[in-house]
Amino acid sequence: MKIDVLTLFPEFIESGVHTSILGRACENGLLNVNTVNIRDFSKDKNGRVDDYTYGGGAGMLMQAQPVYDAFKSLKLNKENAAGDVAADGITRKQRVIYVTPQGKPFKQSDAISLSKEDEIVFLCGHYEGIDERVLDKIVTDRLSIGDYVLTGGELPALVMIDAIARLIPGVLGNETSADVESFYGDLLEYPQYTRPEIWEGESVPCELLTGNPKEVAAFRRSKAEILTKKVRPDLYEKYELRNKCIKELLKDKRNNIQLIEALRRGTGEIICTEPLIIYMPCDELVLVDTNAVMDVKEFFDIIPDNIHSIVVSKEFGDILKDVPGLEKSCDVYNYVYTENVHHKIKNKDIRLLDEKYADFVGKAYELGGYEYAVSRVRDGVVYGIFEDGEIAGFIGCHGEGSIGMLYIDEKHRHKGYAADLESFMFNKDLELGRIPYGQVVLGNEASIKLQEKMGVYGGDKILTWLHL
Ligand code: SAM
Repeated sequence: MKIDVLTLFPEFIESGVHTSILGRACENGLLNVNTVNIRDFSKDKNGRVDDYTYGGGAGMLMQAQPVYDAFKSLKLNKENAAGDVAADGITRKQRVIYVTPQGKPFKQSDAISLSKEDEIVFLCGHYEGIDERVLDKIVTDRLSIGDYVLTGGELPALVMIDAIARLIPGVLGNETSADVESFYGDLLEYPQYTRPEIWEGESVPCELLTGNPKEVAAFRRSKAEILTKKVRPDLYEKYELRNKCIKELLKDKRNNIQLIEALRRGTGEIICTEPLIIYMPCDELVLVDTNAVMDVKEFFDIIPDNIHSIVVSKEFGDILKDVPGLEKSCDVYNYVYTENVHHKIKNKDIRLLDEKYADFVGKAYELGGYEYAVSRVRDGVVYGIFEDGEIAGFIGCHGEGSIGMLYIDEKHRHKGYAADLESFMFNKDLELGRIPYGQVVLGNEASIKLQEKMGVYGGDKILTWLHL
Protein backbone atom coordinates (compact mmCIF):
# COMPACT_ATOMS: atom_id res chain seq x y z
CA MET A 1 0.00 0.00 0.00
CA LYS A 2 1.18 3.49 -0.78
CA ILE A 3 0.50 6.28 1.71
CA ASP A 4 1.23 9.91 0.85
CA VAL A 5 1.42 12.36 3.73
CA LEU A 6 1.16 16.11 3.13
CA THR A 7 2.73 17.76 6.15
CA LEU A 8 4.89 20.63 7.40
CA PHE A 9 7.01 18.10 9.36
CA PRO A 10 7.98 15.15 7.12
CA GLU A 11 10.72 14.03 9.56
CA PHE A 12 8.04 13.51 12.25
CA ILE A 13 6.16 11.06 10.00
CA GLU A 14 9.34 9.36 8.79
CA SER A 15 10.65 8.70 12.30
CA GLY A 16 7.29 7.13 13.16
CA VAL A 17 6.99 4.82 10.19
CA HIS A 18 10.56 3.58 10.09
CA THR A 19 10.59 1.83 13.46
CA SER A 20 9.31 -1.53 14.75
CA ILE A 21 6.57 -3.38 12.79
CA LEU A 22 5.85 -0.48 10.41
CA GLY A 23 9.58 -0.14 9.73
CA ARG A 24 9.73 -3.82 8.77
CA ALA A 25 6.63 -3.42 6.57
CA CYS A 26 8.38 -0.54 4.76
CA GLU A 27 11.56 -2.60 4.32
CA ASN A 28 9.55 -5.56 2.95
CA GLY A 29 7.77 -3.31 0.47
CA LEU A 30 4.32 -3.97 2.00
CA LEU A 31 4.09 -0.31 2.92
CA ASN A 32 5.43 2.68 1.05
CA VAL A 33 5.11 5.99 2.90
CA ASN A 34 5.87 9.09 0.84
CA THR A 35 6.03 12.45 2.62
CA VAL A 36 5.58 15.81 0.91
CA ASN A 37 6.62 19.01 2.66
CA ILE A 38 3.84 21.56 2.12
CA ARG A 39 6.33 24.37 2.82
CA ASP A 40 8.20 23.47 -0.40
CA PHE A 41 5.16 24.81 -2.28
CA SER A 42 5.03 28.19 -0.57
CA LYS A 43 5.19 31.15 -2.97
CA ASP A 44 6.28 33.47 -0.14
CA LYS A 45 9.95 34.48 -0.22
CA ASN A 46 10.32 33.53 3.45
CA GLY A 47 8.54 30.20 2.97
CA ARG A 48 5.44 31.18 4.95
CA VAL A 49 2.38 28.98 4.55
CA ASP A 50 0.04 30.58 7.12
CA ASP A 51 -1.87 33.83 7.48
CA TYR A 52 -4.46 35.57 9.68
CA THR A 53 -8.06 34.34 9.62
CA TYR A 54 -10.81 36.44 8.03
CA GLY A 55 -13.30 37.66 10.62
CA GLY A 56 -10.62 37.77 13.30
CA GLY A 57 -9.79 35.28 16.02
CA ALA A 58 -6.71 33.93 17.67
CA GLY A 59 -4.03 32.13 15.72
CA MET A 60 -2.98 31.60 12.14
CA LEU A 61 -4.40 29.38 9.41
CA MET A 62 -2.63 27.34 6.71
CA GLN A 63 -3.29 28.85 3.29
CA ALA A 64 -5.05 27.02 0.48
CA GLN A 65 -2.45 27.51 -2.28
CA PRO A 66 0.59 25.62 -0.82
CA VAL A 67 -1.65 22.76 0.32
CA TYR A 68 -3.30 22.51 -3.11
CA ASP A 69 0.01 22.65 -4.98
CA ALA A 70 1.54 20.01 -2.67
CA PHE A 71 -1.46 17.79 -3.36
CA LYS A 72 -1.26 18.34 -7.12
CA SER A 73 2.40 17.28 -7.05
CA LEU A 74 1.41 13.74 -6.04
CA LYS A 75 1.59 11.08 -8.72
CA LEU A 76 -1.70 9.35 -7.98
CA ASN A 77 -2.80 6.17 -9.73
CA LYS A 78 -6.38 7.34 -9.70
CA GLU A 79 -6.24 10.25 -12.10
CA ASN A 80 -8.85 12.63 -10.72
CA ALA A 81 -8.25 12.80 -7.04
CA ALA A 82 -11.40 13.49 -5.03
CA GLY A 83 -13.38 12.85 -8.20
CA ASP A 84 -14.89 9.79 -9.74
CA VAL A 85 -12.59 7.58 -11.73
CA ALA A 86 -13.15 4.46 -13.72
CA ALA A 87 -10.79 1.64 -12.81
CA ASP A 88 -11.53 -1.94 -13.90
CA GLY A 89 -15.02 -0.74 -14.76
CA ILE A 90 -15.62 0.20 -11.11
CA THR A 91 -16.03 3.79 -10.03
CA ARG A 92 -13.75 4.59 -7.14
CA LYS A 93 -12.53 7.65 -5.37
CA GLN A 94 -9.00 8.49 -4.36
CA ARG A 95 -9.37 8.78 -0.59
CA VAL A 96 -7.81 11.90 0.85
CA ILE A 97 -8.01 12.10 4.63
CA TYR A 98 -7.79 15.34 6.53
CA VAL A 99 -7.02 14.60 10.18
CA THR A 100 -8.97 17.05 12.29
CA PRO A 101 -10.72 17.24 15.68
CA GLN A 102 -13.81 18.30 13.70
CA GLY A 103 -13.88 14.95 11.89
CA LYS A 104 -15.81 11.72 12.44
CA PRO A 105 -14.19 9.61 15.19
CA PHE A 106 -11.67 7.21 13.61
CA LYS A 107 -12.74 3.64 14.37
CA GLN A 108 -11.49 0.12 13.73
CA SER A 109 -14.06 -0.14 10.88
CA ASP A 110 -12.38 2.89 9.20
CA ALA A 111 -9.00 1.20 9.57
CA ILE A 112 -10.40 -1.97 7.95
CA SER A 113 -11.99 -0.06 5.09
CA LEU A 114 -8.86 2.03 4.43
CA SER A 115 -6.59 -1.04 4.58
CA LYS A 116 -8.30 -2.28 1.40
CA GLU A 117 -7.18 0.74 -0.64
CA ASP A 118 -4.05 0.64 -2.82
CA GLU A 119 -3.19 4.26 -2.07
CA ILE A 120 -4.34 6.84 0.45
CA VAL A 121 -3.41 10.44 1.09
CA PHE A 122 -3.20 12.06 4.54
CA LEU A 123 -3.31 15.80 5.03
CA CYS A 124 -1.92 17.11 8.34
CA GLY A 125 -2.97 20.53 9.58
CA HIS A 126 -1.07 22.87 11.86
CA TYR A 127 -1.71 26.19 13.64
CA GLU A 128 -5.52 26.68 13.73
CA GLY A 129 -6.05 24.35 10.79
CA ILE A 130 -6.41 24.81 7.02
CA ASP A 131 -8.41 27.16 4.74
CA GLU A 132 -11.78 25.47 4.20
CA ARG A 133 -11.80 26.05 0.42
CA VAL A 134 -8.92 23.69 -0.29
CA LEU A 135 -10.37 21.10 2.09
CA ASP A 136 -13.65 21.19 0.15
CA LYS A 137 -11.73 20.72 -3.08
CA ILE A 138 -9.48 17.77 -2.27
CA VAL A 139 -10.61 15.97 0.91
CA THR A 140 -12.89 12.89 0.87
CA ASP A 141 -12.81 11.95 4.59
CA ARG A 142 -12.36 14.05 7.74
CA LEU A 143 -11.30 11.92 10.70
CA SER A 144 -10.46 12.67 14.33
CA ILE A 145 -8.50 10.50 16.77
CA GLY A 146 -10.36 11.78 19.82
CA ASP A 147 -11.99 14.63 21.65
CA TYR A 148 -8.87 16.65 22.39
CA VAL A 149 -6.80 19.14 20.43
CA LEU A 150 -3.20 18.43 19.43
CA THR A 151 -0.70 20.91 18.00
CA GLY A 152 -0.56 19.24 14.58
CA GLY A 153 -1.91 16.43 12.42
CA GLU A 154 1.28 14.32 12.37
CA LEU A 155 0.50 12.24 15.47
CA PRO A 156 -3.12 11.57 14.35
CA ALA A 157 -1.88 10.57 10.87
CA LEU A 158 0.68 8.21 12.43
CA VAL A 159 -1.98 6.71 14.71
CA MET A 160 -4.19 6.00 11.69
CA ILE A 161 -1.31 4.72 9.53
CA ASP A 162 -0.37 2.27 12.29
CA ALA A 163 -3.95 1.00 12.72
CA ILE A 164 -4.38 0.62 8.93
CA ALA A 165 -0.98 -0.88 8.13
CA ARG A 166 -1.21 -3.69 10.68
CA LEU A 167 -4.30 -4.96 8.82
CA ILE A 168 -2.42 -5.33 5.52
CA PRO A 169 -1.84 -9.06 4.93
CA GLY A 170 1.75 -9.95 5.87
CA VAL A 171 2.43 -6.93 8.11
CA LEU A 172 1.70 -8.78 11.35
CA GLY A 173 3.54 -12.08 11.69
CA ASN A 174 0.46 -13.86 13.00
CA GLU A 175 -2.29 -13.49 10.38
CA THR A 176 -5.12 -14.33 12.76
CA SER A 177 -4.19 -11.95 15.55
CA ALA A 178 -5.93 -8.93 14.02
CA ASP A 179 -9.40 -10.47 14.09
CA VAL A 180 -9.53 -11.64 17.68
CA GLU A 181 -8.75 -8.37 19.37
CA SER A 182 -10.58 -5.35 20.72
CA PHE A 183 -13.50 -3.82 18.77
CA TYR A 184 -14.33 -6.91 16.69
CA GLY A 185 -17.93 -7.72 17.53
CA ASP A 186 -18.28 -4.65 19.79
CA LEU A 187 -16.29 -6.17 22.66
CA LEU A 188 -12.97 -5.11 24.14
CA GLU A 189 -10.37 -7.83 24.29
CA TYR A 190 -10.23 -10.09 27.35
CA PRO A 191 -7.24 -9.88 29.76
CA GLN A 192 -4.27 -12.08 28.77
CA TYR A 193 -1.43 -13.85 30.58
CA THR A 194 1.97 -15.29 29.70
CA ARG A 195 4.68 -17.26 31.54
CA PRO A 196 5.43 -17.78 34.40
CA GLU A 197 2.25 -19.51 35.58
CA ILE A 198 2.67 -17.98 39.05
CA TRP A 199 4.11 -14.49 39.39
CA GLU A 200 4.45 -12.66 42.75
CA GLY A 201 2.09 -15.27 44.21
CA GLU A 202 -0.61 -14.55 41.55
CA SER A 203 -1.65 -17.50 39.39
CA VAL A 204 -2.95 -17.47 35.82
CA PRO A 205 -6.77 -18.13 35.89
CA CYS A 206 -7.29 -21.91 36.02
CA GLU A 207 -9.77 -21.82 33.08
CA LEU A 208 -6.87 -20.98 30.76
CA LEU A 209 -4.90 -24.02 31.88
CA THR A 210 -7.55 -26.65 31.06
CA GLY A 211 -6.46 -27.15 27.44
CA ASN A 212 -10.17 -27.22 26.54
CA PRO A 213 -10.72 -24.67 23.72
CA LYS A 214 -14.46 -24.32 24.43
CA GLU A 215 -13.87 -23.59 28.11
CA VAL A 216 -11.09 -21.11 27.26
CA ALA A 217 -13.34 -19.34 24.72
CA ALA A 218 -16.27 -19.13 27.18
CA PHE A 219 -14.00 -17.75 29.92
CA ARG A 220 -12.51 -15.14 27.60
CA ARG A 221 -15.90 -14.06 26.29
CA SER A 222 -17.27 -13.65 29.79
CA LYS A 223 -14.21 -11.57 30.82
CA ALA A 224 -14.54 -9.45 27.66
CA GLU A 225 -18.23 -8.85 28.41
CA ILE A 226 -17.57 -7.82 32.03
CA LEU A 227 -14.75 -5.48 30.99
CA THR A 228 -16.71 -3.87 28.13
CA LYS A 229 -19.80 -3.36 30.29
CA LYS A 230 -17.70 -1.63 32.93
CA VAL A 231 -15.42 0.61 30.88
CA ARG A 232 -17.35 1.07 27.62
CA PRO A 233 -21.10 0.93 28.30
CA ASP A 234 -21.70 2.57 24.88
CA LEU A 235 -19.96 -0.35 23.15
CA TYR A 236 -21.69 -2.90 25.37
CA GLU A 237 -25.06 -1.53 24.28
CA LYS A 238 -24.07 -2.24 20.65
CA TYR A 239 -22.95 -5.73 21.65
CA GLU A 240 -26.35 -6.41 23.22
CA LEU A 241 -28.16 -5.10 20.14
CA ARG A 242 -25.99 -7.39 17.98
CA ASN A 243 -26.99 -10.41 20.09
CA LYS A 244 -30.67 -9.46 19.98
CA CYS A 245 -30.56 -9.24 16.17
CA ILE A 246 -28.75 -12.60 15.88
CA LYS A 247 -31.45 -14.24 18.01
CA GLU A 248 -34.19 -12.84 15.79
CA LEU A 249 -32.39 -13.76 12.53
CA LEU A 250 -31.78 -17.34 13.70
CA LYS A 251 -35.54 -17.95 13.38
CA ASP A 252 -34.94 -18.17 9.62
CA LYS A 253 -31.33 -19.38 9.54
CA ARG A 254 -31.16 -20.49 5.92
CA ASN A 255 -32.35 -17.23 4.44
CA ASN A 256 -30.53 -15.00 6.92
CA ILE A 257 -27.20 -16.76 7.28
CA GLN A 258 -25.15 -13.97 5.64
CA LEU A 259 -26.54 -11.46 8.18
CA ILE A 260 -26.16 -13.86 11.11
CA GLU A 261 -22.54 -14.69 10.35
CA ALA A 262 -21.55 -11.07 9.70
CA LEU A 263 -22.80 -10.30 13.21
CA ARG A 264 -21.55 -13.48 14.91
CA ARG A 265 -18.04 -13.19 13.43
CA GLY A 266 -17.87 -9.50 14.32
CA THR A 267 -17.07 -8.48 10.74
CA GLY A 268 -20.32 -6.56 10.25
CA GLU A 269 -21.55 -3.43 11.95
CA ILE A 270 -25.25 -2.58 12.37
CA ILE A 271 -25.87 0.80 10.71
CA CYS A 272 -29.67 0.65 10.75
CA THR A 273 -32.14 -1.50 12.67
CA GLU A 274 -35.43 -0.73 10.87
CA PRO A 275 -34.84 -2.39 8.47
CA LEU A 276 -31.67 -4.18 9.51
CA ILE A 277 -28.68 -2.98 7.44
CA ILE A 278 -25.20 -4.30 8.16
CA TYR A 279 -22.02 -2.65 6.88
CA MET A 280 -18.95 -4.83 6.30
CA PRO A 281 -15.88 -2.58 6.00
CA CYS A 282 -13.64 -5.53 5.03
CA ASP A 283 -15.28 -5.66 1.62
CA GLU A 284 -17.10 -2.31 1.42
CA LEU A 285 -20.30 -4.28 1.37
CA VAL A 286 -23.79 -3.81 2.81
CA LEU A 287 -26.19 -6.60 3.67
CA VAL A 288 -29.87 -5.71 3.96
CA ASP A 289 -32.66 -7.57 5.80
CA THR A 290 -33.87 -10.40 3.54
CA ASN A 291 -37.47 -9.17 3.79
CA ALA A 292 -36.82 -5.46 3.32
CA VAL A 293 -37.90 -3.27 0.45
CA MET A 294 -37.30 0.39 1.17
CA ASP A 295 -37.19 3.82 -0.38
CA VAL A 296 -34.11 4.07 -2.62
CA LYS A 297 -33.12 7.59 -1.53
CA GLU A 298 -33.50 6.73 2.14
CA PHE A 299 -31.33 3.64 1.54
CA PHE A 300 -28.51 5.63 -0.07
CA ASP A 301 -28.67 8.19 2.75
CA ILE A 302 -27.99 5.41 5.26
CA ILE A 303 -25.19 3.47 3.58
CA PRO A 304 -21.56 4.72 3.45
CA ASP A 305 -20.20 6.34 0.27
CA ASN A 306 -17.49 3.82 -0.62
CA ILE A 307 -19.71 0.75 -0.98
CA HIS A 308 -18.69 -1.77 -3.69
CA SER A 309 -21.47 -4.35 -3.27
CA ILE A 310 -24.99 -4.65 -1.90
CA VAL A 311 -26.85 -7.85 -0.96
CA VAL A 312 -30.64 -7.54 -0.78
CA SER A 313 -33.88 -9.46 -1.31
CA LYS A 314 -34.71 -10.05 -4.97
CA GLU A 315 -37.71 -7.70 -4.65
CA PHE A 316 -35.54 -4.80 -3.48
CA GLY A 317 -32.77 -5.80 -5.91
CA ASP A 318 -35.17 -5.45 -8.84
CA ILE A 319 -35.86 -1.86 -7.74
CA LEU A 320 -32.18 -1.02 -7.16
CA LYS A 321 -31.20 -2.35 -10.59
CA ASP A 322 -32.83 0.75 -12.10
CA VAL A 323 -30.33 3.00 -10.30
CA PRO A 324 -27.58 4.03 -12.76
CA GLY A 325 -24.34 2.17 -11.99
CA LEU A 326 -26.14 -0.71 -10.26
CA GLU A 327 -27.07 -2.74 -13.32
CA LYS A 328 -24.52 -5.53 -12.63
CA SER A 329 -26.26 -8.16 -10.51
CA CYS A 330 -26.36 -11.82 -9.65
CA ASP A 331 -29.14 -13.88 -8.01
CA VAL A 332 -28.27 -16.57 -5.46
CA TYR A 333 -29.70 -18.91 -2.84
CA ASN A 334 -28.03 -19.47 0.54
CA TYR A 335 -26.79 -22.95 1.43
CA VAL A 336 -26.14 -23.63 5.10
CA TYR A 337 -24.45 -26.49 6.89
CA THR A 338 -26.44 -26.64 10.11
CA GLU A 339 -24.82 -29.65 11.79
CA ASN A 340 -21.79 -29.48 14.01
CA VAL A 341 -20.13 -32.61 12.63
CA HIS A 342 -16.73 -32.56 10.91
CA HIS A 343 -16.49 -34.12 7.44
CA LYS A 344 -13.97 -36.78 6.46
CA ILE A 345 -11.51 -35.75 3.73
CA LYS A 346 -10.08 -38.36 1.32
CA ASN A 347 -7.36 -36.29 -0.35
CA LYS A 348 -5.31 -34.84 2.48
CA ASP A 349 -3.09 -32.64 0.29
CA ILE A 350 -4.94 -29.35 0.72
CA ARG A 351 -2.82 -26.23 1.31
CA LEU A 352 -3.17 -22.49 1.63
CA LEU A 353 -2.25 -20.95 -1.74
CA ASP A 354 0.42 -18.29 -1.86
CA GLU A 355 1.23 -15.56 -4.38
CA LYS A 356 2.70 -18.15 -6.78
CA TYR A 357 -0.83 -19.39 -7.51
CA ALA A 358 -2.52 -15.96 -7.73
CA ASP A 359 -2.42 -15.85 -11.53
CA PHE A 360 -3.74 -19.41 -11.86
CA VAL A 361 -6.66 -18.66 -9.53
CA GLY A 362 -7.32 -15.31 -11.23
CA LYS A 363 -7.59 -16.93 -14.65
CA ALA A 364 -9.62 -19.94 -13.53
CA TYR A 365 -12.22 -18.15 -11.38
CA GLU A 366 -14.52 -16.44 -13.83
CA LEU A 367 -17.47 -15.26 -11.75
CA GLY A 368 -15.78 -12.59 -9.62
CA GLY A 369 -13.15 -11.53 -12.17
CA TYR A 370 -9.35 -11.77 -12.23
CA GLU A 371 -8.57 -8.88 -9.80
CA TYR A 372 -10.97 -10.11 -7.19
CA ALA A 373 -9.69 -13.69 -7.27
CA VAL A 374 -6.07 -12.53 -7.02
CA SER A 375 -6.92 -10.31 -4.06
CA ARG A 376 -8.50 -13.27 -2.25
CA VAL A 377 -5.27 -15.26 -2.68
CA ARG A 378 -3.31 -12.29 -1.30
CA ASP A 379 -5.72 -12.09 1.63
CA GLY A 380 -4.75 -15.68 2.49
CA VAL A 381 -8.20 -17.25 2.13
CA VAL A 382 -7.82 -19.54 -0.91
CA TYR A 383 -6.85 -23.22 -0.53
CA GLY A 384 -5.68 -25.59 -3.26
CA ILE A 385 -6.02 -29.35 -3.60
CA PHE A 386 -2.98 -31.15 -5.02
CA GLU A 387 -2.38 -34.44 -6.82
CA ASP A 388 1.23 -35.58 -7.11
CA GLY A 389 2.35 -32.06 -6.27
CA GLU A 390 0.24 -30.51 -9.06
CA ILE A 391 -2.67 -28.20 -8.27
CA ALA A 392 -6.02 -29.82 -9.19
CA GLY A 393 -8.45 -27.18 -7.93
CA PHE A 394 -9.16 -24.60 -5.27
CA ILE A 395 -11.77 -23.12 -2.96
CA GLY A 396 -11.91 -19.86 -1.05
CA CYS A 397 -13.86 -17.66 1.23
CA HIS A 398 -15.55 -14.46 0.06
CA GLY A 399 -15.19 -11.17 1.90
CA GLU A 400 -18.53 -11.46 3.66
CA GLY A 401 -17.69 -14.97 4.90
CA SER A 402 -19.39 -17.40 2.51
CA ILE A 403 -17.46 -20.36 1.15
CA GLY A 404 -17.07 -20.18 -2.63
CA MET A 405 -14.75 -19.76 -5.61
CA LEU A 406 -14.82 -23.55 -6.04
CA TYR A 407 -12.93 -24.70 -9.12
CA ILE A 408 -11.68 -28.14 -10.22
CA ASP A 409 -9.44 -28.46 -13.24
CA GLU A 410 -11.07 -30.32 -16.17
CA LYS A 411 -8.82 -33.39 -15.94
CA HIS A 412 -9.34 -33.76 -12.20
CA ARG A 413 -13.13 -33.74 -12.15
CA HIS A 414 -15.22 -36.66 -10.77
CA LYS A 415 -12.54 -37.62 -8.25
CA GLY A 416 -14.38 -36.23 -5.22
CA TYR A 417 -12.03 -33.22 -4.96
CA ALA A 418 -14.87 -30.67 -4.85
CA ALA A 419 -16.38 -32.48 -1.85
CA ASP A 420 -12.93 -32.69 -0.21
CA LEU A 421 -12.36 -28.96 -0.63
CA GLU A 422 -15.80 -28.07 0.64
CA SER A 423 -15.40 -30.45 3.60
CA PHE A 424 -12.06 -28.84 4.39
CA MET A 425 -13.66 -25.38 4.52
CA PHE A 426 -16.60 -26.62 6.62
CA ASN A 427 -14.22 -28.17 9.14
CA LYS A 428 -12.19 -24.97 9.33
CA ASP A 429 -15.29 -22.85 9.95
CA LEU A 430 -16.58 -25.28 12.58
CA GLU A 431 -13.24 -25.16 14.41
CA LEU A 432 -13.56 -21.38 14.56
CA GLY A 433 -17.12 -21.63 15.93
CA ARG A 434 -18.67 -20.40 12.67
CA ILE A 435 -21.67 -21.72 10.77
CA PRO A 436 -20.36 -22.77 7.33
CA TYR A 437 -22.38 -21.47 4.42
CA GLY A 438 -22.17 -20.70 0.76
CA GLN A 439 -24.29 -19.09 -1.92
CA VAL A 440 -25.21 -20.79 -5.18
CA VAL A 441 -26.01 -18.86 -8.33
CA LEU A 442 -29.50 -19.67 -9.62
CA GLY A 443 -29.39 -22.53 -12.10
CA ASN A 444 -25.97 -23.90 -11.10
CA GLU A 445 -27.20 -27.49 -10.95
CA ALA A 446 -23.73 -29.04 -10.40
CA SER A 447 -23.24 -26.94 -7.28
CA ILE A 448 -26.74 -27.67 -5.96
CA LYS A 449 -26.07 -31.42 -6.36
CA LEU A 450 -22.79 -31.07 -4.48
CA GLN A 451 -24.47 -29.15 -1.65
CA GLU A 452 -27.13 -31.81 -1.24
CA LYS A 453 -24.50 -34.55 -1.23
CA MET A 454 -22.71 -32.65 1.55
CA GLY A 455 -25.84 -32.42 3.70
CA VAL A 456 -26.23 -28.72 3.04
CA TYR A 457 -29.66 -27.29 2.31
CA GLY A 458 -30.76 -24.10 0.71
CA GLY A 459 -32.96 -21.20 1.71
CA ASP A 460 -36.09 -20.47 -0.31
CA LYS A 461 -35.55 -16.74 -0.81
CA ILE A 462 -33.63 -15.40 -3.76
CA LEU A 463 -30.98 -12.86 -2.78
CA THR A 464 -29.56 -10.35 -5.23
CA TRP A 465 -25.95 -9.15 -5.25
CA LEU A 466 -25.45 -5.77 -6.86
CA HIS A 467 -21.99 -4.43 -7.72
CA LEU A 468 -21.17 -0.78 -8.08
N1 SAM B 1 -8.64 24.91 15.43
C1 SAM B 1 -8.81 23.49 15.38
C2 SAM B 1 -10.05 23.11 16.15
O1 SAM B 1 -10.38 23.73 17.16
O2 SAM B 1 -10.71 22.11 15.73
C3 SAM B 1 -7.62 22.79 15.98
C4 SAM B 1 -6.40 22.89 15.15
S1 SAM B 1 -5.10 21.91 15.77
C5 SAM B 1 -4.33 23.02 16.85
C6 SAM B 1 -3.99 21.79 14.44
C7 SAM B 1 -4.10 20.55 13.61
O3 SAM B 1 -3.84 19.39 14.41
C8 SAM B 1 -5.44 20.26 12.97
O4 SAM B 1 -5.58 20.97 11.76
C9 SAM B 1 -5.41 18.78 12.77
O5 SAM B 1 -4.78 18.42 11.54
C10 SAM B 1 -4.56 18.29 13.93
N2 SAM B 1 -5.32 17.74 15.06
C11 SAM B 1 -5.39 18.24 16.30
N3 SAM B 1 -6.14 17.50 17.12
C12 SAM B 1 -6.56 16.46 16.39
C13 SAM B 1 -7.39 15.33 16.67
N4 SAM B 1 -7.95 15.13 17.86
N5 SAM B 1 -7.64 14.45 15.67
C14 SAM B 1 -7.11 14.65 14.44
N6 SAM B 1 -6.33 15.71 14.12
C15 SAM B 1 -6.06 16.59 15.08
